[in-house]
Order: sequence, then structure tokens, then C-alpha cells
Amino acid sequence: MKGANYIDGRWVDGAVPFDTVNPSDLDEIVGHYSKVGEAEVREAMAAARRAQPAWGAFNMQARADILHKVADLIKSRAQDIGLLLSREEGKTLPEGVGEALRAAQCFQYAAGDVVRAQGEWYNSMRDGFNVLVTREPVGVVAAITPWNFPIALPSWKVAGALAFGNSVVLKPSSFVPGCAVMLAQILEEAGVPAGVFNLVMGDGRATGNVMIDEADALTFTGGTATGRTVLTRAAETMTKCQLELGGKNALVVLDDADLDLAVDIASNGAWIQTGQRCTGTERLIVTRGIHDAFVERMAKVAAGYRVGHALDADTQIGPVANAPQFNENLQFVVDARAEGAEVAAGGGAVEGRTRGLFMAPTLLVGTKPEWRCNQHESFGPIASVVMVEDLDEAIHAANACEYKLSSGIATTSLKNAERFRKASQAGMVTVNAPTAGLEYHVPLGGRAPSGYGARETGASTAEFFTESKTSYINHGAI
Ligand code: NDP
Repeated sequence: MKGANYIDGRWVDGAVPFDTVNPSDLDEIVGHYSKVGEAEVREAMAAARRAQPAWGAFNMQARADILHKVADLIKSRAQDIGLLLSREEGKTLPEGVGEALRAAQCFQYAAGDVVRAQGEWYNSMRDGFNVLVTREPVGVVAAITPWNFPIALPSWKVAGALAFGNSVVLKPSSFVPGCAVMLAQILEEAGVPAGVFNLVMGDGRATGNVMIDEADALTFTGGTATGRTVLTRAAETMTKCQLELGGKNALVVLDDADLDLAVDIASNGAWIQTGQRCTGTERLIVTRGIHDAFVERMAKVAAGYRVGHALDADTQIGPVANAPQFNENLQFVVDARAEGAEVAAGGGAVEGRTRGLFMAPTLLVGTKPEWRCNQHESFGPIASVVMVEDLDEAIHAANACEYKLSSGIATTSLKNAERFRKASQAGMVTVNAPTAGLEYHVPLGGRAPSGYGARETGASTAEFFTESKTSYINHGAI
């Protein structure tokens, strides 16, 4: 893969070359790219500024048709995109292809948004008046994305922004820019006019600062610490912000849970996709009566997973996506042990047939809610178990963490489920389902410091990517 930056409809090589490596095989280079400097990022922002008014006024049907075409092209290339994703980020091939198809669905949904009604009409307090509330594009959108969903995440941000008539400058994570380059190629091919979509690769801070300063709105997904930094920067220019940040999601398992189902959803949330979903389950809060049986079953499931090269047909759990994250994961287990956690499964690196960043699905037990391992995001295949006495204590433990992204409960009692749903402080709650695995037609996000500003996707898309205008019309007495 050789990928350039895409600025004002031209493919531009930056001055600083960089390569990506396959986390399944560190001896394999996947892509050659180049980072642009501040001047080129400014150029991209200026191009987006010039192109936005015409795109905002673009024929509605034509704009929807373009987004449909993007969806079709992504679908037709899902295999290639999925393969690149698996090689660059480390998801298994079915997961990579599945993510590409999700990206296509996001563009399909956005195409529908273009033609959906976007205004309200009110009677006025004053005779002879009407009041209209209409939505207008917010303007130039800066989109900054992390490494864990290299095609779906840029897609839902870009699709939403374009649907509502905005222009975009996208900066993907430097670990996984390949899918964003493929997306740019598709947008160009589908007929998105020059300057409406731009792609820049660069160092987060330097690139991000220019983008934030020059944009009307910033949609950012990444770590909470980075989120705080970008929010501080955005305050200077009062750039509208939507931040989707870290999580430390809890699944409560009650004595009355269906044990098979509880193990199924807990293992899925904790370990599938190598635990690298922001909504993955990192804390398992389990009542005493079911605790031992649950832990025993979970440890068996963890030990039974086939961890390995993302492209091997029998692999269930691919590698950790990059070396810094891999080292952080291993250190996380060392720190957890030091504070008293016992390792019931995994805990370290796994040998593979290649030199990859393979980590065993890890289950920590005997932990307390206030320990670091239950407060600090791990973003890997690691889950800690906390034993509690009852639902009250479980609710307290689930909420006793600064992150508030998603949470779940396994129970056969509707009453218990409803109590938890209401009491949870997370932005998303699941009942008898993994804390991860979200749908694109409803809002996604958490409360601060897991999220800030309007939620993403679904109806929230319009909230963030438009500004509302209230118009008072004196049409005279009729
Ligand atoms: P980071 O916060 O490290 O990076 C995210 C993006 O921000 C990257 O493109 C990075 O660029 C860029 N960046 C870094 N520093 C700055 C800066 N000062 N100004 C502007 N941009 C900057 O996150 P990761 O990529 O490590 O992703 C993992 C994190 O993302 C986890 O904490 C996870 O929970 C969170 N996440 C949240 C989701 C949600 O919906 N809530 C969904 C998915 C992930 P570069 O890396 O190229 O320097």
C-alpha cells in the first residue's frame, strides 16, 4: 500500500515518510505514507473553507446519490479494505470485512439523512407571524480518529458531516492510515467535489492544532487525556466539539443471571477484537452466589481462544494493534498483580507462528473497585472481576469510576435490569448483551470524561453537524 495525502482534489506527498507494520508480523511492512507539515494542513483547511458553500447548496438528490455511491463502492471493495485493515490494525479478516461493511452502512444511512426533513414550523405568539427553525451546515469540520476502527470510525464522522453539507478534513491515526486513504480514493471516485473532503496525515498535536484553530467544528475520538488537550485548544477559538473518549465499562452479573448467557456476553465484551473496543468490558462486577462458577467458566473460555495471526483462518483473537499498546497491556497486568489481583487466565504474551504482538485473553480476579486495575482504562484483552454482595453494591461499584461510556447487566429479573438501567451513569446501557456492539442508527457516546458534546450517529448526527436558525416571519394578517 502506498498512500498520499488528499488536499483540494490532489494527491500530495508530504515531506516526512513513514511506514506501518503488521502487528501480526512485525517483519512485514504494510504501507508507505508521508506526513504533511503545518503549511499543507492549512492548505487543506482553506480548500475545505472554499468548497463548503457550494457543497452546502449542492442539489439534495445529487448529494444523496454521491453518498449512496460511496456506500456501494465500499461494499464492492469490502474484501480489500478488510484485508488491509487486518494487516494494518490486526482484526481478524471477518472482523475487518465486517467493519468495512459497517462503514458502507454509515454512508447509506447518511444518504437518507440528506433527504430527511430538517426543519420545524411553529405558530407564533404574535398575530401575522410564523416561526421557522431550520438547520444549516456547521461549516468546515475537522475529524480526528484513533487506531481501533480504521474504516468505520472515519466513515461515520465523514458521512454525517457530508450529509449535512459540511466540508471535512480528516486526520487518521498514524498507526493505521491505510483505510482512510482507501476511503479518500472512494470519495473521489464517487464524485465528491475537490476540497469537500481532504485527508491529511501528520503528528497528532501539530496537525491537530491547525485543524482545531481553522475548523468550525471538531469531531474527535481518542483517549481522554488527548480529549482534554484538544478541548483546551478548542476553547481558544470556541470551535464546536464532539469528543468520544475512553471507557472502563462494567458488566454486572447477578446471581439470577443465565450463566451460559452471562459468560457468553462477558467474554465477548472483554476479549473479542482483542479488547480494543472503546465499549469493551473491562470490569466484571459479580454477586457472590454466582461468582465462583462464573470465574471458572470465564477462565476456561479465555484459555480456549485461538490467539494468533489475524489472517489465519482459525484465529479468533488477533494481535494487539501496536507496540506501545502491547507494552502498556503487559505493564497493566504487572501493576494489577502488584496491587493484589490474581491472574485466573492469560496475563502475558503468547508465542505465534510469526513475530506478532499476541496477548493472551486475561482475567484478573480478587480485585477491588477502587484499585487502579478497575479505574484505569486498559484498552486490551484484559478484564478484572470484583465480587459484590448484591445489586445495590453492584450499582455502586459500576458507577464508582470516572469513565461513563457503556455498562451492562446480566440478569433474568426485569426489575433488576430496570433498576440498573436507571441507576447506571453510563451513556449506553445493555441488558443481557455485551457492553460493546453498537448500532449506527442510534446515538453513541458517554458522559464526561468518556464523552463531551453531542453524541455521534443516529439523530445526534444532525445535532452536531448543523447549526439551528430560528426565523420569525411577519407575513401580515391573513
Ligand atoms: P489517542 O488519543 O492517542 O489518538 C487519537 C487521535 O488523536 C490520533 O489520530 C492521534 O494522532 C490524535 N492526536 C494525538 N494527540 C493529539 C493532539 N494533541 N491534538 C489533536 N490530535 C491528537 O487515541 P488512540 O489512537 O490511542 O485510541 C485509543 C483511545 O481511543 C482509547 O482511549 C479509546 O477508549 C478511545 N476510543 C473511544 C471511542 C469512543 O467512541 N468513545 C471509540 C474508539 C476509541 P496520532 O496518533 O497520529 O499522533
